[in-house]
Amino acid sequence: MSDTISHFSVIKGDITQQQTDAIVNAANTTLLGGGGVDGAIHRVAGPQLLEECRGLGGCKTGEAKITKGYLLPARYVIHTPGPIWHDGKKGESALLKSSYENCLALAAEVGCRSVSFPSISTGVYRFPLHQAAKIAVETILQFLNNHSLPQQVYMVCFDGRTQAAYETALQDAGR
Ligand code: ADP
Repeated sequence: MSDTISHFSVIKGDITQQQTDAIVNAANTTLLGGGGVDGAIHRVAGPQLLEECRGLGGCKTGEAKITKGYLLPARYVIHTPGPIWHDGKKGESALLKSSYENCLALAAEVGCRSVSFPSISTGVYRFPLHQAAKIAVETILQFLNNHSLPQQVYMVCFDGRTQAAYETALQDAGR
């Protein structure tokens, strides 16, 4: 596990500026744009991203679809609707794990060496941050352990509180 951990980093920043092969978008099921990180990605990518998304016919929660990155530094955007948090008894944890896994599998399929993730579902979708961070970190490390691509994964946190939660989850995973 310690070797795998060197292929995963928690950083603070704006995902739209990441120069990785792919960035992940915490989308909604319409894939037609929203607020938060979704709005930021569409603003920087430009209108062609929405055009391509219109042709995708939406995406189910926990699944993922890929588009080009257009004006973003990243070559691809991988869109996944994470689960909306209700009470924790509606399969939210399994769906969040599935979002991370499906994004990583798509990234590997198109040959991405590096991928950046935002903190899926912990904004407007209200998934409890520490629980989400644990699921995200464990799922990513497990995938890296079992696959040769991607080689490098970044968790791009927009604020200090989010960054601290993912750093704690990463430390816990390394124990
Ligand atoms: P969700 O609907 O899945 O909860 P949100 O976009 O509301 O998605 O929030 C997910 C996370 O993305 C939050 O931690 C939010 O602060 C963060 N975020 C918002 N804008 C950006 C950005 N430009 N880069 C990285 N993370 C961002």
